[in-house]
Amino acid sequence: MELNKLTIKEASEGLKKGEFTSVDLTKACLERIKEVDKKINAFLLVDGEGALKAAAESDKRRKEKKSLGQLDGIPYALKDVFCVEGMKTTAASKILEDFIPPYSATVYEKLRDAGAVLLGKVNTDEFTMGSSTENSAFGVTKNPWDLTRVSGGSSGGSAAAVAADECLFALGTDTGGSIRQPASFCSTVGLKVTYGLVSRYGVMSYASSFDTIGPLAKSTEDIAIILNTIAGYDEKDGTSVPYSSRESRGWRDESRSKELGSSRLARARSNNNLLPDYTKSLNKDIKEMKIGLPKEFFGKGIESEVRRVIEKAIEDLKKMGVKIEETSLPSTKYAIAIYYIIAKSEASSNLSRYDGIKYGMSAISKQPSANSKLDLRSVYTKTRGDGFGPEAKRSIMLGTYTLSAGYYDAYYKKASQVRTLIKEEYEELFKKFDLLISPVSPTPSFKIGEKIDDPLTMYLSDVLTVPINPAGIPAVSVPAGFTKDGLPVGLQIMGPMLGEPKILQLARSYEEINKWYKRKPNL
Ligand code: GLN
Repeated sequence: MELNKLTIKEASEGLKKGEFTSVDLTKACLERIKEVDKKINAFLLVDGEGALKAAAESDKRRKEKKSLGQLDGIPYALKDVFCVEGMKTTAASKILEDFIPPYSATVYEKLRDAGAVLLGKVNTDEFTMGSSTENSAFGVTKNPWDLTRVSGGSSGGSAAAVAADECLFALGTDTGGSIRQPASFCSTVGLKVTYGLVSRYGVMSYASSFDTIGPLAKSTEDIAIILNTIAGYDEKDGTSVPYSSRESRGWRDESRSKELGSSRLARARSNNNLLPDYTKSLNKDIKEMKIGLPKEFFGKGIESEVRRVIEKAIEDLKKMGVKIEETSLPSTKYAIAIYYIIAKSEASSNLSRYDGIKYGMSAISKQPSANSKLDLRSVYTKTRGDGFGPEAKRSIMLGTYTLSAGYYDAYYKKASQVRTLIKEEYEELFKKFDLLISPVSPTPSFKIGEKIDDPLTMYLSDVLTVPINPAGIPAVSVPAGFTKDGLPVGLQIMGPMLGEPKILQLARSYEEINKWYKRKPNL
């Protein structure tokens, strides 16, 4: 048995029955990384020693009948924007090449406390800005299905590592599609959660009002298992959802009340007990579901092979008794423009902290004599000039422009208003439909180098994923089949605020029809 190929569900059952240990499982993953990572470049850092130590502790707990649950002893990887105390965290940027965080992200602590075994850090576009991992300062991550193609981005390292069976699951971030698009390109399941459902504390930001954290895994069931551990209120994240009911209305009412006083804080914490068990709804019947197909997501730009795969998925769902009907989201045409204006505005502000003084790389030399000609301005400009790659610089310039006094109203403010329109359009549709479906990306994975010199074309490739983030709603990418050239295609399922249980329910029923998720790349 190749243990690294197991799903979380299968591995946790094997561990429970004593068929193998977490050390065996972890060793299998480390072996696999040694064997194939040269080809795909998913890992930026492998902590073999730390992983084996954590695995041994898990085995000890199990022996003493103190196992912590389904993730105890399960090896995984983190996108390299999650801070882990004492472990290098680079955001795939030269500017943080040697940065060692003094504290850890909340999600890392939650996974550690659930016994999961961290194997190391995986590649991303610099500060998660991009759609291909080509913006990484440490080389592109190649697609395990075709090494001449990109793994997608920005969570390309996470998707490739899962698809190549180097780990059992990975965490990524999704600001405008960065979990869903690589999941689609690599044939893994990837979930973008409701904004605020998973704590962002300790995770480097791109565009804070869009950023979300979520899992990439080998099956929908595994996604539900991970979500059970990582979801929930965190007082360290000011945008965290103080969960009060299954309904999004409950959440909005809570968020609107003026302050989070200590009794409300206590309530929000204990409300975490009200979070659903995401594995419970997976096997519920989907027959009564009403699904909308927004026609703007099936426009001219969709490549014919993607269209064929998604049309087949729609037929398969209809055969299962789901009611599917065409609908419309007219504001979709503005999504790319408003997304990139808002994202780059927020990015320009978020990146200002990397200035050569507070963190990471600095133009200030360790030899005082070499600094005689340096003034503060040249420390900033030289550090940032040498430390940031082209896309981060583009973000700073675009965002500074759209936030500047003369242009703020015309760009940032206008974009924020349109954002509200998009959000409202989705809210209206979810009064009529349980869920919406579409392709994840207009094309399958593209060739390395094909789009990198043409940022606008790269931005436009996000057209089907970016509308979701301004709306704040959840969406999943689930493997839906392959093009005639053998490239994976993902189906996107979108739901209302906190609609994760329903999304996963449909994803699970769908994936069991053809079981595309079980197909493996030949590496
Ligand atoms: N490609 C998009 C961007 O660069 C989305 C990135 C992301 O979701 N992190 O903005």
